[in-house]
Amino acid sequence: MKTKIQEEFKRRFGDEARLFASPGRVNLIGEHTDYNLGFVLPGAIDKAIYVAIKPNNDKVCRIYSIDYDTQVEIDLAGPLPKAQWVRYIYGVAHEMMKRGATVPAFDCVFGGDVPLGAGLSSSAALESAVGFALNEIYGLGFDRKTLAQIGQMTEHNYVGVRCGIMDQFASLFGQKGHVIRLDCRSLDYAMVPFDPTGYRLVLLDSMVKHSLASSEYNIRRTQCETGVAVVSRHIPAVVSLRDMTQDMLDTYKDEMEEVVYRRCNYVINENERLLDGCTALAQGDYALFGKKMFATHDGLSHDYEVSCAELDFIVDIARATDGVLGARMMGGGFGGCVISLVRDTIHDSYVNEVQEKFTQKFGKTPRSIDVVIGDGAHEIK
Ligand code: ADP
Ligand code: MG
Repeated sequence: MKTKIQEEFKRRFGDEARLFASPGRVNLIGEHTDYNLGFVLPGAIDKAIYVAIKPNNDKVCRIYSIDYDTQVEIDLAGPLPKAQWVRYIYGVAHEMMKRGATVPAFDCVFGGDVPLGAGLSSSAALESAVGFALNEIYGLGFDRKTLAQIGQMTEHNYVGVRCGIMDQFASLFGQKGHVIRLDCRSLDYAMVPFDPTGYRLVLLDSMVKHSLASSEYNIRRTQCETGVAVVSRHIPAVVSLRDMTQDMLDTYKDEMEEVVYRRCNYVINENERLLDGCTALAQGDYALFGKKMFATHDGLSHDYEVSCAELDFIVDIARATDGVLGARMMGGGFGGCVISLVRDTIHDSYVNEVQEKFTQKFGKTPRSIDVVIGDGAHEIK
């Protein structure tokens, strides 16, 4: 991919260009915790968007997408482009200009190997790659945290997705052999070692996206807010689930609907589980960490109720398979991928078994995606 992009740049624009990469991400544990101002534990992966880019001393940018085989010209001073993939690039440049930067026109060829829409955040990889590249070629001086915010605001303001900052943060801050414990309240972070010798991460894509996802997401957010409102009547310092302990929740349990209690209970447990999981990783205890992944899945399935038959089916097989340390649904729920931590020697038989049994039951075959934790945004020299 890297050489292909550079060659394509030379062919189209007749010159050498600098090459940058920024990866997709997985989240090992910490689901539905971000908007409750808790913790998440993402890591950058070995699949990225690559951008070859060079200033062109012109009024318009020329951008070629390898994967869509389409070249466009955009005027950064002009209106919002129609195509979504162009909006990410236009949006990043505009968010930089909003923060006082001058962004002259450029030529660019980009493409990548982050599967689109599989929950690996190809969009954050694209924003982060373009943001990182522009920052370097024009010496704009933004730090990585600001670049992550630029990517997040691009999604909000130019694409219409009101996402959190985890994906861009992971894409920019990732480090080989580490996952990132990100505090969604303060944006403080710590690198946690993740280097499971003899084991690897594999994603199994359920190939479904149930239409419930966005309406149920909003309902969960409201339920969490309702739980916070109940407790904060008694303890004003509680402004999010992050501030609530299990004791507080249990004390005022009778004042809330049972379903609200369960939602809050899940989030409080999940934050604790994540912190305990980090301790396990620091001690190299991947078996214990895997148990936490299974426990997260149980919480998401029974208490938070955002799983579905397809995801539960895969996790049940994982649980019954010797050598799978842990597995859980990843992402908002109602479809998407299951992430599993699997012993090398059983990887193939596990994937085959899931694919066969799943196909028999649901009539379609999950694709498998192997991922290795890798580095965040960087220049390729
Ligand atoms: P994801 O979960 O992968 O982030 P999104 O729907 O948020 O899914 O983002 C996918 C969008 O990002 C695509 O529709 C496209 O506009 C853009 N995109 C991602 N990867 C590429 C790529 N390799 N080439 C062009 N556009 C891409
Ligand atoms: Mg996305």
